[in-house]
Amino acid sequence: MAEKGLLVVISGPSGAGKSTVISELMKLRSDIRFSVSATTRAPRPFEEDGLHYYFRTHEEFARMIKEGEFLEYAEYVGNYYGTPAGPVNEHMAEGWNVLLDIEVQGAAQVMAKRPDAVSIFMAPPSFEELERRLRGRATDAEEKILGRLETARLECSQAKNYAYIVVNDDAEIAARKLDAIITAERCRSGRKLESIAEGDFLL
Ligand code: ADP
Ligand code: 5GP
Repeated sequence: MAEKGLLVVISGPSGAGKSTVISELMKLRSDIRFSVSATTRAPRPFEEDGLHYYFRTHEEFARMIKEGEFLEYAEYVGNYYGTPAGPVNEHMAEGWNVLLDIEVQGAAQVMAKRPDAVSIFMAPPSFEELERRLRGRATDAEEKILGRLETARLECSQAKNYAYIVVNDDAEIAARKLDAIITAERCRSGRKLESIAEGDFLL
């Protein structure tokens, strides 16, 4: 039997560097599948449907909610975001570590439903640096940046609910920390023993 993969939830304020660090992490590990979310937000210039997000209309998103397709969903700064449950369960069963990059309300839903999930909060080194990164990214309109900054304070107050906090000062170092967390979590005795067959030398 393939050892079941981890469900890894990463949250943190917009601009903290989650996408950047996750790309670095994917260079370090080949056993990760990124969960592609559905969203009603408009695509950014470099974003591709099905790769970064499934870009959906409000009507399509509402239908997905009604049909119970989401593991979690939430409204964030005027748009909806949700994690399709099917691919998460399939990939975990195949042994992949499945990574969710989701905001705090959705993360709380996942933690309640799936106590085995590994939760990580990614924090910026400071609020000033967060603002610099958000403006430097230059992907959002001013009013959206202000909304994201306001939401950031609320999000950071939730950091205590996560099992791990990683400060993204240097993206490569932060990626190595995520790598270490995943490796350690996969070695937890509870998880290992689950996948060991009866009669094995460890039992
Ligand atoms: P998030 O996914 O959390 O919204 P991004 O990964 O899009 O954040 O990063 C926001 C901006 O900050 C991007 O322009 C990115 O290049 C930059 N950035 C990310 N990590 C760092 C870092 N460690 N140091 C400096 N800039 C960073
Ligand atoms: P962005 O618009 O910058 O791509 O994402 C905005 C916020 O939405 C980020 O905090 C990101 O983690 C979160 N997000 C992305 N996908 C999902 C999802 O499927 N569910 C939830 N709850 N949040 C998501």
